[in-house]
Amino acid sequence: ASASQALTDSPIASKRTHFVLVPLMAQGHTIPMTDMARLLAEHGAQVSFVTTPVNASRIEGFINYTEATGLTIQFIKLHFPAVEFGLPDGCESADMLQSRDLFKNFMMACAALRDPLTAHLHQQRPSPSCIISDMLHWWTADVAREFGIPRLTFNGFCGFAPLVWHIIARDNLLEHVEDENELINFPGFPTPLQLTKERCPGSISVYGWDEMRKNIYDGDRKSAGVVMNSFQELESLYIGSFEQITGKKVWTVGPMCLCNQDFNTMVARGNKASMDETQCLQWLDSMKPGSVTFVSFGSLACTAPQQLIELGLGLEASRKPFVWVIKAGDKFPQVEEWLAEGFEERVKDRGLIIRGWAPQVLILWHKAIGGFMTHCGWNSTIEGICAGIPMITWPHFAEQFVNERLVVDVLKTGVEVGVKGVTQWGHKQNEVTVTRDAVETAVSKLMDEGEAAQEMRTRAKEFGVKARKALDEGGSSYNNINLLIQEMGNRANASG
Ligand code: UDP
Repeated sequence: ASASQALTDSPIASKRTHFVLVPLMAQGHTIPMTDMARLLAEHGAQVSFVTTPVNASRIEGFINYTEATGLTIQFIKLHFPAVEFGLPDGCESADMLQSRDLFKNFMMACAALRDPLTAHLHQQRPSPSCIISDMLHWWTADVAREFGIPRLTFNGFCGFAPLVWHIIARDNLLEHVEDENELINFPGFPTPLQLTKERCPGSISVYGWDEMRKNIYDGDRKSAGVVMNSFQELESLYIGSFEQITGKKVWTVGPMCLCNQDFNTMVARGNKASMDETQCLQWLDSMKPGSVTFVSFGSLACTAPQQLIELGLGLEASRKPFVWVIKAGDKFPQVEEWLAEGFEERVKDRGLIIRGWAPQVLILWHKAIGGFMTHCGWNSTIEGICAGIPMITWPHFAEQFVNERLVVDVLKTGVEVGVKGVTQWGHKQNEVTVTRDAVETAVSKLMDEGEAAQEMRTRAKEFGVKARKALDEGGSSYNNINLLIQEMGNRANASG
């Protein structure tokens, strides 16, 4: 709110640049866009946030918050044509898809929002100045063209991973790679990096992806710039290269999650938590500062049941406190049975298990947390960076392997658990590739008092401080938000 007060009398506020935000309906993409909406509104812009009934109910806490605080955010709730595109009624988010083979149908249903959205925007005053669209919504380019306004893309990531995939696309690097163990180099990438094909970003294996990817890349190429949930002090080298290689202007406006500083907004992110938040805080309060490892793999990762059990045994063997978020649920009843068979009882004095949705930032930013075992989704990664804690990296698929390299090799704030294969999204797997010993070793390495761990802790803390400074008044991201609003406002005035 301080930002909105500071800007109430500024020329920015009086012109009210109007942003239309179109998030991808997936937790990892929608949650940061709610933060973006809030930040833009707090800095004096008008925001329209596109959503659908099921997604609106998931972000109810955020909607209530904006109403209570009078933020200038409107929600455009459009019917989501799930059934029309062969999806079950109410299947309005990527994490609700029963099979990854349905991803194409899901994307087609999203694309069908184009005409209703255009019609809705024609009635809006002030008319839109700019669309910020998830990169996967290639069809929003048509909407922007209709209104003669810029379309900026948001990909939900930092600069590091997208730089890799732009180089892959530019040089067609993967086309002739047959050997799955071949290490690929990335010409023009500013620091040494090698990955096998299956660990490269952009190679998610879903039906119809190649065709979609072409639309997405074409749309991205024509965009007027990129809004990034990162900050200059974290990875300016890679952001600079990204700008150079893509020829796109980048506005780094993150870490956007930092706009959530009070209890209510922290617990209102994403789904409703499956555990009482106060109880969770009480448990954390009872633990020594910096002693607990938080273990969570985001909203989409599908860890095999046997692998989950092995992970649990590793946590137990480490003898260190932990909070473990498990999303096995009905899908993997064997995990529940195993937990009930004695595990929960054996670790009850030092392990908190959360089944389903956890209030992640509330937990991560608690002083008891000293380490984060993460799947390296970008939101989780940057939330961990903000918490100023080191990480154990356990990537599953897509750009997560590249984020792991950023954390381990560049920031030097994490250790690898040592993942062998790729756990594709929605692909049922049964093999165990990370042993309990590997888990125990990684936890010990990160949480012990040794020099290496201390060094990592110090570096992580420093990045946490830099992250906060970036979004504080006068910081790099704070200033970029103002510049973004100004530039889009000026363009709209010049053309209107
Ligand atoms: N999240 C959460 N509780 C959970 C799981 C995830 O609050 O139980 C949030 C997490 O804080 C992050 C987002 O959901 O903001 C997940 O995004 P990320 O990019 O880390 O991973 P994805 O789910 O897209 O793989």
